[in-house]
Amino acid sequence: MSASSNVLRYIHTHNVRFVRFIWCDNANVIRAKAVHTAFIEDYLNGDGVGIAAAQQALPVMYDALAPGSGLTPAGEVHMRADWSTFAVLPYASGHARVLTDIYAGDQPWAHCPRAFLRRMVARAAQHGLTVFAAFENEFSLLRPAEDGVQPFDSTVFCQTSALDQANAILNDITEALAAQGVQVEMVYAESGPGQFELPVRYADALRAADQQIIFRETVKAVARQHGVIASFVPKIYPDKAGNGAHLHFSLQREGRSLVTEPGQPHTLTEEMRAFMAGVLHHLPALMALTTPSTNSFKRIRPRFWSGAYTCWGIGNREAALRAPQPPAGKPITNIELKTSDATANPYLALGALIAAGLDGIERGMKLGDPVDGDPADLSDAEREARNIRRLPATLGEAIQALENDPVLLTALGSELAQSYLAVRRAEWEAMKDMPHHEEVKLLLERY
Ligand code: GLU
Ligand code: MG
Repeated sequence: MSASSNVLRYIHTHNVRFVRFIWCDNANVIRAKAVHTAFIEDYLNGDGVGIAAAQQALPVMYDALAPGSGLTPAGEVHMRADWSTFAVLPYASGHARVLTDIYAGDQPWAHCPRAFLRRMVARAAQHGLTVFAAFENEFSLLRPAEDGVQPFDSTVFCQTSALDQANAILNDITEALAAQGVQVEMVYAESGPGQFELPVRYADALRAADQQIIFRETVKAVARQHGVIASFVPKIYPDKAGNGAHLHFSLQREGRSLVTEPGQPHTLTEEMRAFMAGVLHHLPALMALTTPSTNSFKRIRPRFWSGAYTCWGIGNREAALRAPQPPAGKPITNIELKTSDATANPYLALGALIAAGLDGIERGMKLGDPVDGDPADLSDAEREARNIRRLPATLGEAIQALENDPVLLTALGSELAQSYLAVRRAEWEAMKDMPHHEEVKLLLERY
C-alpha cells in the first residue's frame, strides 16, 4: 500500500480535521500551514503546499526580510510532504502533521534545510559512511507569573522530588513522543531550576533531525496542556546551568560501528579521529549553526559543562567533544558535541557537522591527545601548545568565522549560505545589546 493511501486511511479512522505541513526555517522557528482534510487529496502526491520564498529570510524577532538574503517578496516554493513522517498529533485534537522538503518547481530548493542534510548524508554515503545521531535536550519548565515567568521548581541535579513534582507532565511527554515513534531512554532533573533532560534513542541522521523537531514541538505543547511553559532557550538564568542540546553522533560502514577498533574498546578508529578533528577544526564556524542565537553564547562558558574549548576528552564534561566513558570492557559507542543547543535548526546543525567531519576525513586531519581535566585550569601556554582554543564568545564572532570558512559555505551552497548568514547577521545586529530579560522574553516565544 502506498504511503498516501495509508495516510488517507489514517485520516479517516482518526478523525483528523487538519494536516500540518511543517518546515523549520533558517532562524529555527518551526512553522506549519495546516490543510483541511476535505482537500488533502490535492496535496497528497501533487506539488505540495506553497509558501513565499522569503520565508527563508526571516530573523527570529519578526516577520520581515533580513537585508542581503538574496530573497525577495516575489517567488513561491512548495512544501512536499514526506509521508513517512506523518503522525496524528497526540496533543492537538483533530490535527496531524507531516514534515516536508521544500521544492522550487520540480527541484529541491537550494534554501531548504532538510535538502541540505539529505545532501550531506549522501556525501557521507559516497565515503561508505552512515551517520547516526541524537539530540540530547535539556529544557526548563516555567510557570507563567505576573511579571513574566518563574521556575517550576528549585531542585538540583537528579533530585528525585523533581520527578514527583513534574511527574504528570513528564509521563505525558513520554507517551506523546512514543505515539509519534520517538523513544525516550531516560528522564532526570538537571541542575538548573525547573530543568529536565530526556534523552531519546538515536537514529540515522535525517531521522535524528526530524526527531528533534518532533521533540521540541511535543515538549512545548504537552507542557502547555498542563499550564506550564517549556523552553529550550540556552541561558534563561545568567548564573545557573544552561540548556544544551548535545549532539551525539557515530559512524557506521556496512552496518558495523566505526567508532572504535574491533576488540579495542577505547581506541578510536583513524576515520573517527579524523572526523572529530574536522569537527574541532571547523567548530568556531560551526557554532554559527549549532549555537546560533545571541543567547547561545551566554551558555558557552568555561566551568558550565557546555564545551567552551576546542578539545576532546573521554568522559570529560568540559571538552567540546566528549567520548562518553563506557562501562568496563564495553566500547565507546558515540561522540557528543556539547557546543550545541536547541536554538539550532537541526538539519543545518547536523548537516554542517557532517560536512566538517568529512573534511577532516578527506584531508586526513589529526586529532590531538584527549584532555583529562578542565581545560580552563591549563595555563595559556599549555593550551597554546596543545592547540586548545577558546571558542567564539559572541554570535558576531561565530558569524565571522563562518563567513571565513569555505568548506562549510561550499557545503551549504551559495544560496543557503547567503540567506542563512543574512538572518543571523540581522539577529546579531538587533539583539547584541538587548538586555538579558528582553532577549529571553523574545526567545521564550520561539524556542
Ligand atoms: N547543562 C549543561 C550544558 O549547558 C550540560 C550538563 C551536562 O553535562 O549534562 O550543556
Ligand atoms: Mg545534561
